[in-house]
Amino acid sequence: MLRVAEHAERTDTGRQRRANEDAFLARAPLFAVADGMGGAQAGEVASRTAVETLAAGLPAGPGGVEERLADVVRTANLRIHELSVADDERAGMGTTLTVAHVGPHELTIAHVGDSRAYRRRDGVLERLTTDHSLVEELVRQGRLSPEEAEEHPQRSIITRALGPEAHVVPDAHTLAGRDGDVLLLCSDGLTSMLPEARINELLGAAPDLRQAARDLVDAANAAGGRDNITVVLLRLEDLEGAGGDAPDEATRVGAAALRVEDVQRAIAQAPPPEPAP
Ligand code: MG
Repeated sequence: MLRVAEHAERTDTGRQRRANEDAFLARAPLFAVADGMGGAQAGEVASRTAVETLAAGLPAGPGGVEERLADVVRTANLRIHELSVADDERAGMGTTLTVAHVGPHELTIAHVGDSRAYRRRDGVLERLTTDHSLVEELVRQGRLSPEEAEEHPQRSIITRALGPEAHVVPDAHTLAGRDGDVLLLCSDGLTSMLPEARINELLGAAPDLRQAARDLVDAANAAGGRDNITVVLLRLEDLEGAGGDAPDEATRVGAAALRVEDVQRAIAQAPPPEPAP
């Protein structure tokens, strides 16, 4: 039986932004990070609405956790969308949302946008989400290498967000959880400032998650702190030892998520990556 043995959260405006438009939720069994976008505090409204919708918990229903998690993400999307069309100042606001649900034997992850989930197990950091971003799309098409994507000037353009459209398609999947697994949810203010190897190193060196959260935020700020930085960390404990029979295994678009044709146009027009020094 899995339980959350320890968790820690930290959010920071960073060194260059005036406001913090990120939001997070840490209320077992649900943990989430949202990264809002839009002027006049609209990004804050969007990310806060996303986590508040989640805070009510999973909707009851016949479906499995994945389905119900996707449902609540769609509900959050609709709420944000309705708020944005009701008020000109909030037009086009949006947010990413990455959420983890800790079940009795497994983890379910759902996300929209480029806030990420990672799992650290046996010293290895594994990314559990695929960014809904322009550069990730270019990588999938073989037009950019993952290393080039990390440095790409358009790396913060996301292709899916909550809010801009009345409908959204979240990605959701389930994986086995194991005693000692550490889960990291984070906004791109962390991952755009620190390479994954450095994140793994800091996680491995900290005596506990509180310190790890602090170290990650401090390191992202030391690297420039160009964006809001949010980290949610949790460590799993399995009271029975074995994992059970579960299956093993941005943010700037002028505030709106891109349509398919816009993505294709942007890909066609994307400048070549800068040559490596
Ligand atoms: Mg961000």
